[in-house]
Amino acid sequence: MTKTKAAAGSLKRKIKLDGNWTFVPVAKRGDRYRPDEVVIQGLPTKMKQGTFYLDWREDGKRIQKAVGTNGHEAIEAHRVQTKIHELRVSGVAVEQDAPQLAPGRESMRQRIDHFLEDRRVTLRPKSLKKYSEALTSFLAFTKKRYIEDIKPDDIRGFLAHMTLAEKLAPKTAKVKGRIVHGVLTGLGAALRMERGDWPKVTKKQRRPMYQTVTMQTLLSTVSREHYILWSFFLHTGFREQEVAFCSWSDVDFKRGEISVTEKPHLGFEIKNYQQRTVPVPEELLDLLREHNATLPPNSFLVFPTRAAKGAAASLKPGGKNRLNMLDLLKFDYYLAGLNCGGCEVTAGGKATTCAKVPQCRRVGLHMFRHTFATNLLRAGFNIVDVSRQLGHQDVATTQIYLHDLSNDELREQLNASRMGTMYIPEQFKQTEYKRIHAVSDASRKRMSEGGKRSAQLRAAGID
Ligand SMILES: [Zn+2]
Repeated sequence: MTKTKAAAGSLKRKIKLDGNWTFVPVAKRGDRYRPDEVVIQGLPTKMKQGTFYLDWREDGKRIQKAVGTNGHEAIEAHRVQTKIHELRVSGVAVEQDAPQLAPGRESMRQRIDHFLEDRRVTLRPKSLKKYSEALTSFLAFTKKRYIEDIKPDDIRGFLAHMTLAEKLAPKTAKVKGRIVHGVLTGLGAALRMERGDWPKVTKKQRRPMYQTVTMQTLLSTVSREHYILWSFFLHTGFREQEVAFCSWSDVDFKRGEISVTEKPHLGFEIKNYQQRTVPVPEELLDLLREHNATLPPNSFLVFPTRAAKGAAASLKPGGKNRLNMLDLLKFDYYLAGLNCGGCEVTAGGKATTCAKVPQCRRVGLHMFRHTFATNLLRAGFNIVDVSRQLGHQDVATTQIYLHDLSNDELREQLNASRMGTMYIPEQFKQTEYKRIHAVSDASRKRMSEGGKRSAQLRAAGID
């Protein structure tokens, strides 16, 4: 190999700027590259999309090599390549460029594979499966090889294909389309879609939640043990797994708080949401004290299984937690006479309805969480606090619950806030005062006349 006259190259990113693909330098702080910033018109700017490229000259030739979409990996690739340059300049023959360098242009399939690989640690298995299915079916549908070639028309075609050829429900097609659109956009595709491009999903589904009276009926018919369990769901808003893996060390009776913490030894890992500590009402703490007294000493989990509670005596870490809570709830719901009666289900291989078996589909553990969230909003908690209580990463998720407040509820809140009186000047306040009194005077008169009349009737022996 000839001695190379190479200068250490620079790290760039290919992004879409004013509709054109453009190489821009990756921003530096001191002599360190920033994985998530580029320089646009001299200013460091946050950037989430675009492929990184190493850019250097070698033997008078300009070389640009794609090094993926992960900033940290790209910086590492640049570091290795710089080292190789130094060696070559000093006369050492190095055949290979940085091993992280992708040989040539990465195909869409490769980039999607990388994406899924990256998300394996951050997405929950269920979500990962959804992503994988949607992206795989898009790859099977499109004939294009590179992400840069994907246009909004390809997404529209994919949506049409799903609803017409695959006969998917509009809602399913929309969810899959959104995943593909979101991922490809994240990987640098420019896919501007209009609102009308997405399949029409009839009726915006409300998040199903329990009516107060339904909960009152349920709780008045269940065992004391279940009363405490369902109360725990209703007053913490915890997800099923968070309840199942809640330990006594998570409950701080003094501060009136309960935490959601990881328990890797039990297989409970918090992936895409953070650990959190939330305040709970005094009444729930009382119930938990009572519940604690019924468990063997040194019990680890708050809600262990019945078997573990009995024979196994003290439940050590690694002991079984309650995983059949949904079945228990369905049974309680059925016994309370709350099943809707309309769900068509199979039981023992026979078709029947939820009027006869504890399988109503209008019941679910997650509905406790919806109910809790809506109750907080109804009680006037602000959305940021509600979001924190639920452990949402993004307030936008919490905002969905706002749709569940009906106009009646909003009107009630509006009146309770007395907002309508905010601008009434003094002289008109007087009028309002008079009007209210005029009404109450009139009704008082009517009432006293009514009273006189019934006294007369009683006196006449008619009543
Ligand atoms: Zn039902």
